[in-house]
Amino acid sequence: MRIVLLGAPGSGKGTQAKMMAEAYRVPQISTGDILRKAVADKTEVGKKVAAMMDAGELVSDRIVIDAVTDQLRSPDSRRGFVLDGFPRTIPQAQELDTRLGWMGRPVQLVLHFLVDNKVLIKRVVNRMSCANCGAIYNKQSSPPKKKGVCDQCGSKKLVSRTDDSEKTMRSRLEAYDRDTAPLISYYRAQHKLRSIPASSSMAHIFDAICDVVDTEIRPMEKKIVVIEEPVKIKIKKADPEEADQATTKKKAAKKTTSKKVTKKAAKKAPVKKAAKKTTAKKVTKKASKRK
Ligand code: AMP
Repeated sequence: MRIVLLGAPGSGKGTQAKMMAEAYRVPQISTGDILRKAVADKTEVGKKVAAMMDAGELVSDRIVIDAVTDQLRSPDSRRGFVLDGFPRTIPQAQELDTRLGWMGRPVQLVLHFLVDNKVLIKRVVNRMSCANCGAIYNKQSSPPKKKGVCDQCGSKKLVSRTDDSEKTMRSRLEAYDRDTAPLISYYRAQHKLRSIPASSSMAHIFDAICDVVDTEIRPMEKKIVVIEEPVKIKIKKADPEEADQATTKKKAAKKTTSKKVTKKAAKKAPVKKAAKKTTAKKVTKKASKRK
């Protein structure tokens, strides 16, 4: 599956991308995570983007496009990917379409997370994440079980992002409205946009996402092969004396034979039904795996 998550900062893209990556076994490709790592590792790219990120501004298209392309080409992405935080501008989306087009693997769906701005700010200022494994918490709505300790990996490094202050958040929301919101029309025009109400609980939002993915992408990924045996028709050799009669009868029989063939084909139907049953079982198994 090849999915883009589109939504304002704090709309829950990161949290849902992690859940999707685990459930559908595809990588989460987050440009924010890639850039934060570059900053922490003090790489050339990290040094270039640090100030822009701290100010809540978008970094240059070239930098993020190159970072994403590397990941899309990696063997991990063979089964698909969830793009989180990319594309964020029209040129990024166009470049993504071009590069995925070359690979013959276009984006299938764009999930647009709908959340009220007031909720976004509240979520972001209370957000914490684990510096060790990336698990995301909210001081109010979903704190870790033990204060200051990550539920996932036990690390005590729960930190707030430097750009998660209320002031920077306002700049990030402005950047979203100015540069990213036009992508809504861009993907709507491609008939790929699906809205996900994203103000409720993590579990509810995830259910809504799975409904869309399971009905719109997964059925297309299942290959149903129905093996039908060729229908054999035995033709009796005609007696020379009866040849004339036979010719006349054959003509008359032609209509009947075609009816018989249809009947025989209908008898083969159980093969199809059996195949359908097996497929249905597989789907049920897959769905329960996800759960
Ligand atoms: P995020 O973690 O997705 O909220 O991203 C954090 C910051 O990284 C953003 O505020 C931008 O400064 C930068 N960033 C992440 N993704 C992109 C992108 N696709 N284009 C430009 N800047 C980005």
